[in-house]
Amino acid sequence: MRWSKAFIPTLRDDPADAEAASHRLLVRAGFIRQLMAGVYSMLPLGFRVRAKVMGIIREEIEAIGGQEFLLPELHPREIWERTGRLEAMRDILFTLEDSRGGELVLGPTHEEIFTTIAGELTSYRQLPQLWYQIQTKFRDEPRPKAGLLRVREFTMKDSYSFDIDAEGLDRQFDAHFDAYTRIFERLGVPAIPVVASSGAMGGSGSVEFMVASEAGEDDVAHCPSCGYAANVERATARPFPVEDGEPAAAPERFPTPGVRTIADLETFPGGAVAERQIKTLVYMLDGEPTIVLLRGDDALMEQKLQDVTGAVEVRPATGSEIVELLGASPGSLGAVGLQDVRILADEALRGRRNMTTGANLDDHHLRGVDVERDIAVSEWVDVRTVRAGEPCPSCGEPLEVFRAIEAGHIFKLGTKYSEPLGATVLDAEGKAVPIVMGSYGIGVERNMAAVVEVHHDDKGIVWPVSVAPYEAVVTIVKVSDTDSWETGKRIYEELLALGVDAIVDDREERPGVKFNDAELIGFPYRVTVGPRGLADGVVEVTERRSGTSEEVVVAAAAARVADQIAAAKALL
Ligand SMILES: [Zn+2]
Repeated sequence: MRWSKAFIPTLRDDPADAEAASHRLLVRAGFIRQLMAGVYSMLPLGFRVRAKVMGIIREEIEAIGGQEFLLPELHPREIWERTGRLEAMRDILFTLEDSRGGELVLGPTHEEIFTTIAGELTSYRQLPQLWYQIQTKFRDEPRPKAGLLRVREFTMKDSYSFDIDAEGLDRQFDAHFDAYTRIFERLGVPAIPVVASSGAMGGSGSVEFMVASEAGEDDVAHCPSCGYAANVERATARPFPVEDGEPAAAPERFPTPGVRTIADLETFPGGAVAERQIKTLVYMLDGEPTIVLLRGDDALMEQKLQDVTGAVEVRPATGSEIVELLGASPGSLGAVGLQDVRILADEALRGRRNMTTGANLDDHHLRGVDVERDIAVSEWVDVRTVRAGEPCPSCGEPLEVFRAIEAGHIFKLGTKYSEPLGATVLDAEGKAVPIVMGSYGIGVERNMAAVVEVHHDDKGIVWPVSVAPYEAVVTIVKVSDTDSWETGKRIYEELLALGVDAIVDDREERPGVKFNDAELIGFPYRVTVGPRGLADGVVEVTERRSGTSEEVVVAAAAARVADQIAAAKALL
C-alpha cells in the first residue's frame, strides 16, 4: 500500500472524551471512528487488525475441530421466550417489530439458534460436534464506554459444543481452554483464567480469561501465593475473625435517635464497630421480598445473590415495600424475631454473638444479638464482596484484587438450552436424551483494544507483529529525491516479495510528521530511506518496541526486516 493513496486519518490531538488508552490511541491513530454511543466504524487500519485477530481465532478453533457457520442476526422473539432469556436478558436485548407485526430480536448471542439447528442431530453416533461462527452481536449496554472495550454492536467468535454426556463436554471445554490460551498468546494478550459467574448464560461452570488493566470493567481476586483466581462476582475469601466476647442472655433494645447507617452506629455512644453489626438489606427476588444479612463491614455482591438463588430479577426493595414488610424504615431494620419471610444470612455471620442490629422500630437498635439463636435464618449463603488482603480460600495468604478486561468466557451449559428447545439424540440404548452443550466466546474488537491497552507507550501503539495493521513501513524521508524514491520503492517491493505485510510512506510530508505517524500507529518495523544514508549505501531499520535502530546496507534491508518478523512470529 502506498500511504499517499491510503485513508489513514491520524489526529494531532487526543479525542476529548477518551479515557482508556486504547480508545484514545485507536481514534487518534486512525483505526476507528465513533458513529454513536457504543457503535464504531472500522477504518482501513482497524479493519486490517480485526481481520488478523479473526484469522488467529479461526485457525485455533479450526485446529480443535471447529466447523464454521454463519447464523442470522434477526431472530424470532418466540425462540427467546422458550428458553426464558427474553426475560433474563431483557435489559440488553435489542427488540424490534417488522412491517407485518412480527416480533424480532437482534442476536446478542446464539445459543438458541445453534441449538435449534442441533435439533437435526438424531443419534449419539453423530456426536461430538463443534460449531462456530465469527459474527456481529448486538447488546444494549446501558453505559457504553472506553472505545471498543464496551460497545453495543461488535464481532464475536462464538462456538458451541454438542456431546452425549458430561465427559464429552469436559473434553471440549478443555480443548477450548487450551485453544484460548494459544489465541491470547498469539495476540500478545496476557490473559489469566479465572473462575467466573455464568450469569444469564446459565449452566454448571464457567471460566473467564482476564487481562489486568485499569481500563477493564471487572475485578479479579487473585492469590499470588497459590494462583487462586476468581471474578469478584464469584470469589470467596475467609473473613477475618472477630472476637465477640461473652454472650448476652437476650437481645436488649436501646434508643438510637438519628442513627441511619452502619457508620452512624459506629460513632454513636453505646454503638458498635462495623464488624460487630448486622447489615440488614431487603431485596425483591422475582417479586418475592427477601431479607439479606451481612456483617456490617461487608458489601453485598448482587451477582452472587442472583447465582445462589437462581432469581432472574434481583433488585433492592423500595422504601414503601420495606415499610410494608417490616414496619420500619431503612436505618432501623433487623431480622430478630421475624417469621414468614425468607432470610438469607452470609456465612460470615455464622456463630456470631453479641451483635448489634436494627430493632425494626424507627430510631431503635438491638444489642446482644446471637445470630443463630435470635434469627430464623432460612439459608446460609456466601454473598459478600471479597476485599483485597483477605485470606485466600485455598491457602490463607492475602488476596489481591485488580481491575481487568474480560477477553474471553467459556461456559459449560449442560442441557439448559437443549431441553427447552427439544434438541435430543438417541443414546446407545435407543433412549432420547438432551444434548450436553458448551458455549465459548471471544469478542474480536475488545481483544483489539486489550492488545492496545497492554502494548502502547507515550508515542503511541506498539503492535505485536501478529496483529499489526502492517508489519513494516518504508519511510521515504525525501520523496523529491529520485534515489530515495527509487530505493524506497525497491525495498518495499522486496518486502512484499518476502511475504512481509508492508506499506510505503511516499507522502510529501515533513520527516517529523512521518516518523510521528509511524510511531503513533505502531508499525513493528520501520525502514528509513534518506539521502544522507544512501550516500553511504545504507538505510536505517528501527524496531518500534525497543526503539533501537541499526544501519543496514540497502541490498540487505528487506531480508533483515523479514528475518526479524519471522523470528518474532516463531516465538508465538
Ligand atoms: Zn492462595
